[in-house]
Amino acid sequence: MRALKLSKKDEIKLYDVLKEFGEVWAPVPKGSKYVYGKIEKKEDLVIHEECILPIIPVKKFLMPPDFTMLKFTPSKYSIPEEDIPTTVVVGVPACDIHAVNILDKFYTTDYVDNYYMKRRERLIIIGKSGTPRENCFCHKSNTSIVEEGYDLFFFDLGDYYLVWVGSEKGDDIVRKGADIFSEEVPKDVSKKFVEFRRNRNKSYINDVDLEGVTDLMELMYDAPFWDEFGEKCLSCGQCTMVCPTCTCFNVIDDLALSGETGERRRYWDSCMFKDYSLVAGQHNFRESKAERLKLWYTHKLKAFIGHFGSPSCVGCGRCIETCPVDINVVTVVEKMKG
Ligand code: SF4
Ligand code: SF4
Repeated sequence: MRALKLSKKDEIKLYDVLKEFGEVWAPVPKGSKYVYGKIEKKEDLVIHEECILPIIPVKKFLMPPDFTMLKFTPSKYSIPEEDIPTTVVVGVPACDIHAVNILDKFYTTDYVDNYYMKRRERLIIIGKSGTPRENCFCHKSNTSIVEEGYDLFFFDLGDYYLVWVGSEKGDDIVRKGADIFSEEVPKDVSKKFVEFRRNRNKSYINDVDLEGVTDLMELMYDAPFWDEFGEKCLSCGQCTMVCPTCTCFNVIDDLALSGETGERRRYWDSCMFKDYSLVAGQHNFRESKAERLKLWYTHKLKAFIGHFGSPSCVGCGRCIETCPVDINVVTVVEKMKG
């Protein structure tokens, strides 16, 4: 890994370098929130000091909410040719890069999902460490620092960015932008870097205590509070749509009126929906909302560790901001801890 410097006075030139590599996307305001939007002019590429978490995370670039997997006739099928542009996403926080690393494991372990891989190979991630927002708790989920999964990663050290180069693509970008990326990192960079980390660590507001929650998930699987949450839950599925590590999908065949041709579609699903666990014969494995909530939190805080070695909650806080009835990792952990 290499460390370089990008002066803030040269920040305006960054867009012209990045657009040589593909479409440039970054957080843009939408009402009181942010979404990832395509950047068309260099003035619109804003690198924020604060951590910006767009409503729908990076997973939208890797697995579209709805797409055609294949088209079929009675005698054959074909996979549609897709023109997937290379996409450079700028300003991705460390927690969301951890989430992409989790998706990488999920979509490539045991079975390689080619639909995912085609998009992953065309995604360039420019990370950015920012000051935490009110609901961030990545310092508690060990996801506030990231060492892999990005192409470039920026730290704001005052009048310049310290830039880590994390991949060959990142190296290509800094070569292309040789006039703005400098090897001459200031002598006091390590002092400033330590200060930055210290100040950022002090600025977390959300102090949720995640210690021991994996065991508590097991011990409290039948606790009455799950029914209380189940009473309140609206089964709206918003928590799963915004969670950067949620991957549930459904596959359906859409038939033409002739009944002979059609297409197979894949779209985002949610384990919070009642029909998610409905099987033939009208049997539903998770009829109650409490059961579905338990499934989600078991997956986030416990089960994923058994398969992949880490929890699948990266502490982004989106579920805290999104759930209309205040069910989220913090309120669940608080209940578990009494
Ligand atoms: S469970 Fe909540 S805090 Fe954790 S990664 Fe998902 S949305 Fe973020
Ligand atoms: S937990 Fe909240 S966001 Fe998730 S389905 Fe229930 S009401 Fe909706």
